Amino acid sequence: MADNKLSGTLRRLPSVEVLLQEPALVAEIERHGHRLVADSSRKVLEKMRRRIKSGVPVPSADLEPARLAALVKEEATGVYKPTLQPLINATGVVVHTNLGRSVLAAEAIKAVDEVAASYSNLEYNLTAGSRGSRHDHITGIITALTGAENALVVNNNAAAVLLALTTFAGGREVVVSRGELIEIGGSFRIPDIMAASGARLVEVGTTNKTRLADYEKGISASTSMLLHVHSSNYKVVGFTAGVAVRELVKLGRKHNLMVMDDLGSGALADLPALADEPSVFESLASGANIITFSGDKLLGGPQAGIVIGDSEAVDLMKAHPMARALRVDKMTLAALQATLALYLKPDEAVARIPTLRMLSGPAADLKPRAEQLAAGLKEALGAAASTSLQQAASRVGGGALPLLELDSWVCALSPASISVDELAARLRKTTPPVIGRIHGGRLLLDVRTILPEQLNETVIALKQALNQGQA
Ligand SMILES: *Cc1c(COP(=O)(O)O)cnc(C)c1O
Repeated sequence: MADNKLSGTLRRLPSVEVLLQEPALVAEIERHGHRLVADSSRKVLEKMRRRIKSGVPVPSADLEPARLAALVKEEATGVYKPTLQPLINATGVVVHTNLGRSVLAAEAIKAVDEVAASYSNLEYNLTAGSRGSRHDHITGIITALTGAENALVVNNNAAAVLLALTTFAGGREVVVSRGELIEIGGSFRIPDIMAASGARLVEVGTTNKTRLADYEKGISASTSMLLHVHSSNYKVVGFTAGVAVRELVKLGRKHNLMVMDDLGSGALADLPALADEPSVFESLASGANIITFSGDKLLGGPQAGIVIGDSEAVDLMKAHPMARALRVDKMTLAALQATLALYLKPDEAVARIPTLRMLSGPAADLKPRAEQLAAGLKEALGAAASTSLQQAASRVGGGALPLLELDSWVCALSPASISVDELAARLRKTTPPVIGRIHGGRLLLDVRTILPEQLNETVIALKQALNQGQA
């Protein structure tokens, strides 16, 4: 009996061919092709068959072809809709590793656009009319800005560290302080990178204290270099001691060893917010032979790993076969070159590079923007949520300056009829999604990281999220 009913229900499902004649799907086929829509139809019908066979009663409305067609469209959309999408960062974390780290300056975006849309002299020397090197496009500006002898750019800073260790320390030993064996996040661990490079790690000192004598004891006939790693994302406070790069360089000279300094963030700008971050210039002045840092952390450019240092050492890295595997493409080169060009005039850099602008914005400048957002929200949301203005602390993020808080202003929201977690979940699904932070039972929207042109979109997204389900 039940079986009869079940097969009756199954028979009510349309065939793929019939389903594809639904007007919504005819239009979908026109836009995205027959194959995708037919495959999606098969998947939806198969799911429905399984649901029916499981014995759970299926409302007959769910079997209507129009309803099934809507499911097919959703399934197909999941394939062609880009999953990587812009969103609004209302967290107040400026260099947010999960949210794409840095927003490029308009100049960098324009440079990418131009080089992507045309052939270019990426590896062509226009003067000689012969093969050129992609490195040549970027070495000049980096050395001009930093004063380093030579420079190289690779895929990211992890790649820069890997390439340096492979080039100089493969099969040999590298002396590093226990307090600097850090994990950066996303499973990037200094010890793992060293193992991958074939370098052998010699840990010296303790987590909170390492002295020059500890390094000296760690040196053997197979030592290739002394490594200093900036512990970007954490700070040991209290009873601590570390060895400055300058001291390591002296020790290195005594034993004829090179010194590498992995800076991580690479602060090139002179901003009050970055006062405690080791700068690229300090590291160079200390005499490190190789220095590595990221292009998209505090620098505010595209994802890249920048290597600066002694001319011969950097040339050896450029010539290593692995450099080819870690090289950057023309869009990265264009974006980085344009970003770095802004640094030639420090005021320009702070005004034009979004990361620097956000890091330098004083709370007093943020207040009017927060007031504008609060007014917009109050008007748009009415009784659906209460909105208040609060002072709060933003963070630098990106594993930089873990203890530093930047005074900021936030809009604090309490939804009237849904939980704050539900509101946050709904905001992850708006177009564009809005990511805030929950604190004290309220959703905080920090204007420091909301781009000025996104203030309006933020209000619209909030309205969408709160009105959901009451249409
Ligand atoms: C962030 C960081 C890295 C890794 O840099 P990516 O650009 O993320 O590859 C390496 N070392 C230090 C000290 C860092 O802070």
